Amino acid sequence: MRLVLVGPPGAGKGTQAAFIAEHVTVPKISTGDIFRANVTQATPLGLQARAYMDRGDLVPDDVTIEMVRNRLREPDALDGFLLDGFPRTVPQAEVLDDLLRETADTGLDVVLELVVENDEVVRRLSGRRTCRECNHIWHVDFDPPQVPDVCDLDGGQLFQREDDKAETVANRLEVYAESTAPLVAYYAGRGLLVGIDATGPVDDVTQRAIDALRHFRAGEQRTAAGPFEAGTRHQAAVDARDTAHR
Ligand SMILES: [Zn+2]
Repeated sequence: MRLVLVGPPGAGKGTQAAFIAEHVTVPKISTGDIFRANVTQATPLGLQARAYMDRGDLVPDDVTIEMVRNRLREPDALDGFLLDGFPRTVPQAEVLDDLLRETADTGLDVVLELVVENDEVVRRLSGRRTCRECNHIWHVDFDPPQVPDVCDLDGGQLFQREDDKAETVANRLEVYAESTAPLVAYYAGRGLLVGIDATGPVDDVTQRAIDALRHFRAGEQRTAAGPFEAGTRHQAAVDARDTAHR
């Protein structure tokens, strides 16, 4: 199975990526891991990426794409994969289509979207508090320490990371919506999109994802032509979100 996972910051994408990949027995390929591997091994691409990151610049698309291309050519990824963190934009999605045609003469099977309302993302991320001593992350609502702002493990002072501040989170969601809404619409239009509710306990979300993938495959075999119904419904939701956004 060739699968792409998308979802906003705070949707628990990294965790779900690992569980889902394990369940469908494909390698989990995340851009974060690819970056780290290339930088650690000091590959030519890693050195390039490093130079941009050291300057505080974004790593340009062509460097990222080249790293993803190399990773998809490795033997373990030839029969399937779960991609996390790529593509992020429609142009990147088109590049991925070309890459797959090139390496495996095939296309993506499914794009799974973790759907979480913005308010919920803000609540999840802005409630996080990190220990200055051990970096353990607590949450004021979901996993509070016994004494507010003090780590249960070592008595360290807790603080709110810049990334977790409500204003920063709102900003990140804005950026996500701008780049990803068209991506989600692109895949929905091709009948590849499956959206699942990513709120609630981690195990429940994983189970929902696995059920959705099973149903999607069954539905795909019944109606080889025509978009999947849930994708169509979701497209309407994306349109509505876009309209509301304007
Ligand atoms: Zn601590």
